[in-house]
Amino acid sequence: MILDNEPPHDVMLTDQQHELLESAAEMLYGLIHARYIVTARGLACMLEKFKNFEFGRCPRFHCEGQACLPVGTSDVPGQSTVKIFCPKCEDIFYPRSEYQCSIDGAYYGTTFPHLLLMTYPMYRPPKSSEVYVPRIFGFKLHPTAYGNREAAPARNSQRRIAAAPRGEGAAAGAAAAAGGAAGAAAAAAGGKDGQAKEDDSL
Ligand SMILES: [Zn+2]
Repeated sequence: MILDNEPPHDVMLTDQQHELLESAAEMLYGLIHARYIVTARGLACMLEKFKNFEFGRCPRFHCEGQACLPVGTSDVPGQSTVKIFCPKCEDIFYPRSEYQCSIDGAYYGTTFPHLLLMTYPMYRPPKSSEVYVPRIFGFKLHPTAYGNREAAPARNSQRRIAAAPRGEGAAAGAAAAAGGAAGAAAAAAGGKDGQAKEDDSL
């Protein structure tokens, strides 16, 4: 009845009522779907699709084309569209296909992918150990490279305070001196202003 969307013959509906019935039927079907895919039979069906990459692959380079599973960020309809969950990096992404992008996330729910991988642990891929490291001219970026002093490692803080009691430029300069090659890269990224201020304060 939900799929055919035909009202009983003895009931006459206005166009507006027909539209309301249609959207209510769609939502009911979606919520039944969300309930069905967490049953034993539903999980088995979805596993076959997962094995055939039907829900797409993780866009993250280091996940090497890992197959994904659909997931909702809410179990309440109308909150957000469906996302894909990568079991390798354990993050969620927008699906690539436009058709998938318009489906309500609640029609899959927040539980499904995790219950599937708990039911079939042999399909859980090993965690991704590869992590992308940003570099400038081959050097890793120092924690102070973007001028965020809060992110500086604790071992540098003592020396920084001793060498430069005041002034941002002086602090950046001291951190660069303490950090060796990585620090030099940070100072380079910070520009000449930091260096000039340091000279002034000294
Ligand atoms: Zn991934």
